[in-house]
Amino acid sequence: MKKFISIILCLAMLIGTVAVSTHAQQGEITWDGDPVVFIQGYTGSALVKDRGLETEAAVWGAGRELDIAKIIISVPGILAGIVLHAMGDSSLLLSSFGALAEDMLGGIEILEDGTSKYNVTPYPYYAEEASIATLRANGKEDYVPEKDITNSILETVPAEYVFIFNTDWRLGQIDNSEMLAAFIDGVLACTGKDKVDIYALSHGGQTAAAYLYYYGTQAKVDNAVLNVPAIGGTTIATGLLGGNINFGMDEISRFLAVMLRTETDLRFLGKILPGDFLNGLINTVFSEMFLPVALNFGSVWDFMDIDTYTTYKAKYLNNPIIHGERIEKHDKMHYDCMANMSKGLKAAQTAGVNIYITANYGTQLGTGETVDSDFIIDTKNTTGAYTADYGTHFVKGYTAKGTNCSDPTHNHVSPSYTVDASTAFLPENTWFIYGQYHGQVYWDDYTRPMIMEMLLTDNIKDVHSDPRYPQFELAQCPVDGVYAKFTNEKSGYYNADSKKLLIRNICDENSMVITAIKADGCEFNLDSKKVLAPDEEMTVDCSKLSDNGCFIMEIEYKYSGSLLAQPMSRTLYFCEN
Ligand SMILES: [Zn+2]
Repeated sequence: MKKFISIILCLAMLIGTVAVSTHAQQGEITWDGDPVVFIQGYTGSALVKDRGLETEAAVWGAGRELDIAKIIISVPGILAGIVLHAMGDSSLLLSSFGALAEDMLGGIEILEDGTSKYNVTPYPYYAEEASIATLRANGKEDYVPEKDITNSILETVPAEYVFIFNTDWRLGQIDNSEMLAAFIDGVLACTGKDKVDIYALSHGGQTAAAYLYYYGTQAKVDNAVLNVPAIGGTTIATGLLGGNINFGMDEISRFLAVMLRTETDLRFLGKILPGDFLNGLINTVFSEMFLPVALNFGSVWDFMDIDTYTTYKAKYLNNPIIHGERIEKHDKMHYDCMANMSKGLKAAQTAGVNIYITANYGTQLGTGETVDSDFIIDTKNTTGAYTADYGTHFVKGYTAKGTNCSDPTHNHVSPSYTVDASTAFLPENTWFIYGQYHGQVYWDDYTRPMIMEMLLTDNIKDVHSDPRYPQFELAQCPVDGVYAKFTNEKSGYYNADSKKLLIRNICDENSMVITAIKADGCEFNLDSKKVLAPDEEMTVDCSKLSDNGCFIMEIEYKYSGSLLAQPMSRTLYFCEN
């Protein structure tokens, strides 16, 4: 049950990531000498009540001890509540869950006017206490987030130069970006340096984007890596607020496998989980219990795109006497910052900030909307790119819209013909990873070293400057199983000369055989007996290539050496270019 609650919380409160173990193999990196400011994702920051007073208590995150006894006591009530809910009566479910939620969320309440009910601040808060070296020295190692990424950074940067910035994620980004500006000044004062490098994840990426918009021209940042930033919000927030959640059980099962770091394909769970029932349960619990709390959180409002914000504002945020200050800040965030993001980021670039936006595409949104996403955030909201609806692609001969880049020598359309990056906030500085889930960089042997190089060196200028890091590439996480590309072209695309397909086993632990390659109109000369060890690759000849413009390729494989091995597959899209 605790796991069930964690999953619900994880999905409902969303955009946090789970880091389980270390897996880092990046090459030598020569550090540029700038201190690193690490801005973590949603709900990641620890919150403390009454700091420095006798009543001081951790109310969220690290340092907070959940009352296990209370959780255990509530289990029978919740189980019985689920049974009654199935029979049409939700009252026991809600009261049992309510007691638990009160315990978990009681200390972090935000009042209707947008201020905190209690005296709450994030910890660490001041730059002087926020370097990993200081946290360790004070016995606060638990407060270092996202251990895989921070450990990768620590391979190159001394711990006294890596700083953890926490947002008060209950507030909006106008407040958080102001706090970040003060924090960066603090880091510069502590270290005696002129500039910092920023790594910002998800909700933290929206904070960083707002910071760059309002303070970027102060040129206090050298490299800013925004990984899966929620710059334009996420449609998942609308799904949650509308009580309109329709989680796909297949995708959730696979997401779970990535979080648990198992190479086992858990999608069989999707076939046996009662999806409709679980979605109904989550909708009930969320709309009755979390919605009233969540609607006062500024961050929830900044997760809405501009149109959704305008609609919901009229419904829920319409009393100038109570909501006046909140309305002013959210209006500024949406109608100024988000509406003019491209211009603002370009001004920061002109002032000398190197901005790297890394995003994912090729997955349906977790709550079931048919938009292209990384499961948690729409690709268009992360990057500004124009995308085809999930499950469809642009027509053959599609021409890029050219809103933010109209250079005819640039190709900003993805090999899958689903993403047009010419409309992105920064077309030359946005990298797209196909099939990677939100915030799962740490287990991806391609993306993690790329991001470290962006963050810690000045080697990579833009998507054209380094053939190792093109604008579009495939996710290469062990759970993805196989990597494939036509060898005569840059990754993904094909044309009449594409005669050889390179296939690599990207598992860490399992050897495999490729049992079949299926694609419309294509024939492959495959040796289906050949065993590929981890990291081993082979080339397959192909003939009669599709002339349909775009085609789907299904690569089927099986782990070798186990009688119980399940058949698995990876689906890829190729378009002519
Ligand atoms: Zn361009």
